[in-house]
Amino acid sequence: MARIIAVANQKGGVGKTTTSVNLAAALAIEGGSVLLVDVDPQGNATSGFGVDAMSLTKTVYNALISKDSIEFMAMQTGVNGLSIVPANSHLAGAEVELVNMEDREQRLKEALAGVVDRYDTILLDCPPALGLLTINAMVAAHSVLIPVQCEYYAMEGLGRLMESIQRLRQSLNPALEIEGIVLTMYDARNSLARQVVEQIRGHFGDSVYQTMIPRNVTLAEAPSYGRPALLYNVASAGAQAYLSLAKEFVVHGEKSP
Ligand code: ATP
Ligand code: MG
Repeated sequence: MARIIAVANQKGGVGKTTTSVNLAAALAIEGGSVLLVDVDPQGNATSGFGVDAMSLTKTVYNALISKDSIEFMAMQTGVNGLSIVPANSHLAGAEVELVNMEDREQRLKEALAGVVDRYDTILLDCPPALGLLTINAMVAAHSVLIPVQCEYYAMEGLGRLMESIQRLRQSLNPALEIEGIVLTMYDARNSLARQVVEQIRGHFGDSVYQTMIPRNVTLAEAPSYGRPALLYNVASAGAQAYLSLAKEFVVHGEKSP
């Protein structure tokens, strides 16, 4: 059965999608069978694989609203072993339409039930909000992977995210764990970034991955070529960092029950 991980942080632009895409690719390159589900109406993970998001007829929207099977939605990517369930801006409507639906927080979990046996890992790329889409992801998930950008306001909002996770544990998903915190866009020359790293490691201890993702131009450029950084420039510091993160992620997964 797949480990299902929600990649979440309600703060925008912290590296959720970059982490989802490149960790998914790294895990697949290491031999895993991986599904990446784009749970963001911005569709950045989708376009990051060169998929023309607006031309799609079936997206995660249909899985959430019409309970269409995810099995037939998953598209092969250029990375062997990695498939993606795409999204586009229609998904923004789901946030509204779900409100009055029964089991509105469980829809993604139900949609994924049919495919959990097919993959080793399922990553859910969440939007920058704590609305129903992110809640659906956190209800479906075993754990939450939290990208945190190494900048001054990094800690801001983390308290609220942790509270949301705690609330879900008390209600819809008692087994929900913190998978880990990954520090992104790290610039070693910046003393502020070094302080932020210290502060976050001091506060969250072993939950923080040793691997830090550097600020790296390849990571920013690769999506415009419709590829993960690992296929665009595997030698880049960014691609190498995500390979290293994938190794830590696998070891961590073997330790947890
Ligand atoms: P959103 O909240 O809008 O979904 P996000 O949390 O998914 O954003 P990303 O889209 O992954 O964040 O990253 C935000 C921007 O920063 C993007 O332009 C991305 O290419 C760039 N970026 C992410 N990580 C890095 C990095 N390590 N080095 C350089 N640029 C990066
Ligand atoms: Mg994103």
